[in-house]
Amino acid sequence: MIQEGWRKVIPLKQKDHEVKLPILAKGSTGKVTKIDLKDGKTQPPKRYTEGQLITLMKTAGKYIENEQLEQVLMRTEGLGTEATRAGIITMLKDRKYIEVKKNIVYPTDKGKVLIDAIGEKVLASPEMTAKWEQRLKEIGEEKASAPEFMAQVKKLCAKIIEDAVNTSHSWNFSEYDISSIQKKSKSKRKPSSMGTCPLCNGQVVDKGKFYGCLQYTKTKCPFTISKKILSKSITQKNIKLLLKEGKTEMIDGFSKGEKTFSAALAWNKLERRVNFVFEN
Ligand SMILES: [Zn+2]
Repeated sequence: MIQEGWRKVIPLKQKDHEVKLPILAKGSTGKVTKIDLKDGKTQPPKRYTEGQLITLMKTAGKYIENEQLEQVLMRTEGLGTEATRAGIITMLKDRKYIEVKKNIVYPTDKGKVLIDAIGEKVLASPEMTAKWEQRLKEIGEEKASAPEFMAQVKKLCAKIIEDAVNTSHSWNFSEYDISSIQKKSKSKRKPSSMGTCPLCNGQVVDKGKFYGCLQYTKTKCPFTISKKILSKSITQKNIKLLLKEGKTEMIDGFSKGEKTFSAALAWNKLERRVNFVFEN
């Protein structure tokens, strides 16, 4: 003790085993009289609770080495906003990337696959968020160009996808149970039939921008019908009608040039194509 301070008023209750250290000076030497060796293991870092995870998002700037970007994240209050942070966590739960047991957050195998796949890439870096926030602010102040920013974002997206494709051969997820992830994408891919193909009796399915015959891959059956005809979207109900009854309901709102008109679509057996059928 160098200075007693308030201990002058309230003296320290000396316990028997407490030894008052002697005054030490620089260069003093000591003598080791006894050593103990204690076995132990370091503890892994504690898992986060949901609340801590939100705090972590808020203070993400702390973990950035670039000081300027750290400032940006401090100013923008980290990842997400006060209003969206809880929602982001909820979305991760809903999409089964994380699960919360007794208020402790665990990544699922699906989450681990994503973490491994993204790795240390730009997508996972708070720096990128900081840079974007910075740029958005500049755009708000008319100091940066929005179209230029969007062009860069598009380029970055293409690069990220390209990188993912390139590195995908080195991914190894064998230690994870990925069946749940695969099952989902498989069932999603299974197309539901709109009806029978008028050319070959195959199944007509949704092919994205158009409906087409499932036999195309085997027999090159050319039956297709566009989802949008003369600017008018054709409903699934009408596609089904066309395939079943040979004709849709009257559809309003086809437009050609400045004109709009109503017509039904019908399968023309002779011409082997879809025609417009007008009321009269
Ligand atoms: Zn067909």
